[in-house]
This record gives sequence, C-alpha cells and structure tokens, in this order.
Amino acid sequence: MPRIVLASRNKGKLKELKMLLSDLRWEVCSLLDYSGVPEVEEDGVTFIENAIKKATTVARYLNEWTVADDSGLEVDALKGAPGVRSARFAGVQGDDQANNEKLLQMLTAVAWEKRTARFRSALAFASPEGEVWTTEGWCEGVISFEPRGEGGFGYDPLFYLPELELTMAELSDEEKNKISHRAMAMKNFRAYLKDASGA
Ligand code: IMP
Repeated sequence: MPRIVLASRNKGKLKELKMLLSDLRWEVCSLLDYSGVPEVEEDGVTFIENAIKKATTVARYLNEWTVADDSGLEVDALKGAPGVRSARFAGVQGDDQANNEKLLQMLTAVAWEKRTARFRSALAFASPEGEVWTTEGWCEGVISFEPRGEGGFGYDPLFYLPELELTMAELSDEEKNKISHRAMAMKNFRAYLKDASGA
C-alpha cells in the first residue's frame, strides 16, 4: 500500500486529517510515527508558502510522499490577524487558551457585526523529488464574545457559525469534518489523488 506522511505533530489537526483520509487506499502516517524529523520554521508570509515549505522539507527528509496543512484564523477587525501567526498569537507556540484569551481581549470593543472571520487551510502535497501540488479551503464565521463547546482545538470555542447557531467546538468531529476549512481543502486533495492514482 502506498504511504502518505502528514507533516504535523498537532494532535487536533492529525485526528481530523486522518478521519478525512480514512477511506483512501493509502497508509497514512504522521511525524508522530518518526523520530528525529527536524522542526520546519514557519517563516512564510502566507499559509501556502508555509505549507509548501513543510511538505517539501519533510518529503525530502523522509523520502516519502507528504501532505502539509498550514492553517489559521483571519479576523477582519484585526486586518487578517492572527493569520500565519495563529498557533503562536499569544507568544507560546500552541497555547490555545492564551491565544483565545488574547483574541477576546483584542476584540473587547468590537461589535458583533464587525467580528467576522474565517479559518483558512492551505494544503501542499509533495513528492520526495520535490514536485508539489497545492489547494486551499476556508470556512466563514464570527468571533463570539465567550468560548463555548468542548470539541475541536485551537480557536474552535470562539468560532461561531451563524447558520448552525453553534461554535465549531460544539460540533461533533463528523460535523466539523463536513464543513471545516480543512475538510474543503481535503475534498480537493482527495479528488486529485483519486484522479492521479485511482486511490
Ligand atoms: P499550523 O500548525 O501552523 O498550521 O497552525 C495552526 C493554528 O491555527 C492552530 O494552532 C490553531 O491555533 C489555528 N487553527 C487551525 N485550524 C484550526 C481549527 O480547525 N480550529 C481551531 N483553530 C485552528
């Protein structure tokens, strides 16, 4: 069975990506299955730049086909921040609670109609030889005034979906995987993979 490596150690993200790829005829691994893979510095100014850098670096290093998702939150009232800095918005990489607190604090004086935001996912699929295919997905919402829900990860408890009247963290894994930015990008990727490999 051919193998795909997911270039991430983020458990929340990996759980979703593995569910989204579960019915493909590919073995799906992640960086948690390998030791010694160096950290890739996410110093690009766009999600797609970072996704390409992560996917190509890991694909070359492990000599495996690799998928990287670089994702984050864009808040209109903050001119697109936290953007590519989403994971380290409050200073410490991956501190979801501190990131959410900082976001709420920065939006204290911002009215409901101005709290529009979107999650974005840029996905890069790289071969060990350095060929790359990319796609993107996004999901629109509003930043709520207080966190709600226990599911998901990151900014999910603050990301309100007006048409569902729920935050992303109040959705089940299956529901989130039908509408999320990552699900949209993965839908394109699965179509590409099916086309290219019959998987
Ligand atoms: P990355 O690992 O550099 O792609 O950083 C992704 C960061 O964006 C995460 O640490 C979260 O803060 C945020 N993020 C991305 N996708 C989601 C999501 O589906 N829900 C909530 N937060 C997300």
